[in-house]
Amino acid sequence: PRGLRLRYGCSSTGQQRRLLNHFISKAPEPEPTQPPPPPPSPTPTRFTLAVKDNIATTSHPTTCASAFLTTHRSPFEATIVTQLRARGARLVGKTNLDEFGMGSHSVHSAAGAVSQSQNEPISSGGSSGGSAVAVAAGEADLALGTDTGGSVRLPAAYCGVVGFKPSYGMLSRFGVVPYANSLDTVGLLARGVGMIRGLVVGGATKKGLWGEGDPRDPTSLSEGARGRCVAGREGYGGVIDGGEREGREVLRGVRFGIPLEYNIEELDPGIRNAWAKAANTLQHEFGARVVPVSLPSTRHALAAYYVIAPAEASSNLAKYDGVRYGTRDSDAASDAAGGVLYAASRGKGFGDEVKRRILLGSYTLSSEAMDNYFIKAQRVRRLVRKDFNRVFALDNPLHERETFDLTDLDESIEMEDKWGPEEVDFLLCPTAPTLAPKLADVMKQTPLDAYMNDVFTVPASLAGLPAISIPMPVASEAAGDVAGKSGAAGLQLIGQYWDDARLLAVADAVM
Ligand code: GLN
Repeated sequence: PRGLRLRYGCSSTGQQRRLLNHFISKAPEPEPTQPPPPPPSPTPTRFTLAVKDNIATTSHPTTCASAFLTTHRSPFEATIVTQLRARGARLVGKTNLDEFGMGSHSVHSAAGAVSQSQNEPISSGGSSGGSAVAVAAGEADLALGTDTGGSVRLPAAYCGVVGFKPSYGMLSRFGVVPYANSLDTVGLLARGVGMIRGLVVGGATKKGLWGEGDPRDPTSLSEGARGRCVAGREGYGGVIDGGEREGREVLRGVRFGIPLEYNIEELDPGIRNAWAKAANTLQHEFGARVVPVSLPSTRHALAAYYVIAPAEASSNLAKYDGVRYGTRDSDAASDAAGGVLYAASRGKGFGDEVKRRILLGSYTLSSEAMDNYFIKAQRVRRLVRKDFNRVFALDNPLHERETFDLTDLDESIEMEDKWGPEEVDFLLCPTAPTLAPKLADVMKQTPLDAYMNDVFTVPASLAGLPAISIPMPVASEAAGDVAGKSGAAGLQLIGQYWDDARLLAVADAVM
């Protein structure tokens, strides 16, 4: 298929770096010299930034890796880029991705596939694969990605770097090309947690990004709502922002839940072992508590995601018609109603995966299929959210109280979404079920195989929760012939809504 061709050669320097194909456009500045610089201090005053090419910048085109937008230049810059520039970022380039963020291996790109290895083509994960490779190669200290269903966490896991997806509505999405609005978030990638934590949470001298609402993004929480989200949580567990505790001490007494439903048959044995090892280390060496929890709706989360995300995508992408947006197919005769022009432009402009999502989404939103797909998926989404609210000790500040109708009572009873005794601070699970596959194997996969990679990342997306992937080494014998250069996998930590500061503090201590 068109989106899967392995074409390299976007970058202009060096045979080896060319094989990675992780940048779509680069800043004119000279490239940093090798070897990769050491990780910068947590809050540097100057740092290099790579930006996923579905995030608007005025200095470079914003192509979304789509043939439709190869020459598109945004007249404005995304808020998040401006915020980072104000904190010392120097933009080094725009990174390659799956077209409009749709994919899990960064192969569905008009600029060709990304590889994380110079020696052989190995998946960088997706859709923010170019951002993960730029950070792993030391060409950027920080990279921006977007995470709708795992697109920051999965590439971070495959490439052995850190990938953070914030709570929905925390970081501004103004200037980020929408894929699925109810799920889209801007995420950060770096080689360590410290840098991300410094930027998001802030410190004595710098204001954290998490406190900055953006009136230009209707999904960005207002200052008032931000205040309500932390009300009553100050100092919670002593680690809300690192607290007074230092290093591994942060982990003492923290409760981690192991979601039993995540131990699926398809889980790579090496990853399962590494997951168990991480849990044991936390418990026996760092004084944390590790308990099993059940998230029964997990089984349906992936299916619900792949109904909701394409439905929203089909609506978002309707504006690309070669007239209002996107490259017009100049050969097409423009009939009176414009139909020929639209169809020809969209036929040429979109890649196969994007077309597949548009067809799926248009179908599940059609009147005869709506009840069976879209409405059902929304119900599953609610159940997924309830599962999380039940296991977390913290309340969800956005959580709706449930009223249960007990038919033999005159009155309904207002109760909380807490059904069980399990109450944990964070969930601990792998980021993806397998290690990074070779691109040759990715090309043999069906679309469904690729969707399977997102099984552990979509539940937090459906619930809007913060989640982070940190590198988890997998023993090389277990890594077998599919391993990337490091046999890297990701350990994922998921927190309650707006518990990002504690999540980052704990991830910092675990790594
Ligand atoms: N792989 C998922 C998808 O294709 C997630 C993408 C994303 O988070 N942008 O929809």
